[in-house]
Amino acid sequence: MKSQEIRSKFLSFFEGKQHLIVPSAPMVLKDDPTLMFVNSGMAPFKEYFLGNAEPKKNRISDSQKCLRVSGKHNDLEEVGYDTYHHTLFEMLGNWSFGDYFKKEAIAWAWELLTEVYGIDKDILYVTVFEGSDDTDKLGMDTEAYDIWKQYIAEDRILKGNKKDNFWEMGDQGPCGPCSEIHVDIRSKEERVKVDGKTLINMDHPHVVEVWNLVFMQYNRKANGTLEDLPNKHIDTGMGFERLCMVLQGVQSNYDTDVFTPIIREIETITDKKYGNNEEVDVAIRVISDHVRAVAFSIADGQLPSNTGAGYVIRRILRRAVRYGFTFLDKKEPLIYRLVDVLSKKMGDAFPELKAQKQLIENVIKEEEASFLRTLDQGLVLLNRIVEETKGDTVSGEKAFELYDTYGFPIDLTALILSEKDLKLDEKGFNEELQKQKNRSRSASETSTEDWTILIEDDVEEFIGYDALEANVKITRYRKV
Ligand code: ATP
Ligand code: MG
Ligand code: MG
Ligand code: MG
Repeated sequence: MKSQEIRSKFLSFFEGKQHLIVPSAPMVLKDDPTLMFVNSGMAPFKEYFLGNAEPKKNRISDSQKCLRVSGKHNDLEEVGYDTYHHTLFEMLGNWSFGDYFKKEAIAWAWELLTEVYGIDKDILYVTVFEGSDDTDKLGMDTEAYDIWKQYIAEDRILKGNKKDNFWEMGDQGPCGPCSEIHVDIRSKEERVKVDGKTLINMDHPHVVEVWNLVFMQYNRKANGTLEDLPNKHIDTGMGFERLCMVLQGVQSNYDTDVFTPIIREIETITDKKYGNNEEVDVAIRVISDHVRAVAFSIADGQLPSNTGAGYVIRRILRRAVRYGFTFLDKKEPLIYRLVDVLSKKMGDAFPELKAQKQLIENVIKEEEASFLRTLDQGLVLLNRIVEETKGDTVSGEKAFELYDTYGFPIDLTALILSEKDLKLDEKGFNEELQKQKNRSRSASETSTEDWTILIEDDVEEFIGYDALEANVKITRYRKV
């Protein structure tokens, strides 16, 4: 089943259950001071749950563009290294605003997955809230458990803790238990059997969470206690690319038709092959993911810039450029050349991509060219620094100057130095960063909830390399 059909089957299924189908809201939020980008399907409907606005209908369904690159949900560093977290992804969802509740939500999710999409019941697992710690004093979600067991064997209903199976909008407000649906797409060889029974391992990369059904039934009061909501709501979110992976019988989102046309195009442009070398593969995954995030946000009117959401977009684009520059040996703009296939692939479902194609291409090309110049100049300067270095360590001050004044990424500096058997004085670099941070420490706040604003503090602390399975050296940063 092609991705387009998978998406439309979802929507027509819920249309058949009397849902109003709405288009995706823009991903870049202009009038919500608490959130920079839409990071889940429910974000555009927040006011309905809070009772501040009335939905057109009490049943809605859509496919929402989401971006998880900042705040509470930040998957950026995973992207490229695993095969199921993206920066931008589509979240398929169905909502009940004070209308149907657990019984229907579970029954329909099950019907859609097993009957409409035909997923084998024997690869499905579900989770329910196990009951709680601290203030909640809630027991297990037996209501959900009892409904699930009408559909699925009880040894496939797993209990999960508050972290995974209890959703809260913030310190206060609507909240409730949730049930997740996981799919076991492990190959025969990857499965472990004991006494003829398959053992489940929820941490296995091929046991993937696809759908989260949130049952909003409580309100958390300012004093921390819970009360029943007068109207109970349903909020569900299913990762579209992961669903495509399951239905297309592959083990990576990048092997679905959502990504393969983009990957083929990268192969043609760079003369590299996907699937032979982990370093190259990571770079190809990063680029094919990031072009979507950047293209969609430009289509929504958010251009790369030096502040706020624009800066987040610029950094995503630069991350892609860096991977192309370093691992695909491509020293000229290439990402803008992917916009054409992307808009052909997704332009029907998201017409803004087609409408803004020219602008998207121009903006990306210009950004790429300018950052590639920076990288080139940085390389010349870095070579000079290397020549002038006595001993085996490059000073943190010099590396910081390259980073701060010329915009040369510190992980690239570190990588190049390590190739020349030189060390980087990380401590010195971090001290310089700290000094700069102190200089620019102003209104910065870290977000821990879904609805707390983040004014991003863009200073990063270099915390060293991580050796990956494939001996690719990459650097890790930690927000400070
Ligand atoms: P995970 O545990 O895999 O990070 P999550 O629990 O953070 O997912 P939810 O907030 O429950 O995700 O979002 C609902 C669904 O959206 C998930 O079940 C998953 O299918 C999908 N999803 C979440 N994050 C991503 C992502 N970064 N890329 C692609 N799909 C995602
Ligand atoms: Mg997550
Ligand atoms: Mg999860
Ligand atoms: Mg989840």
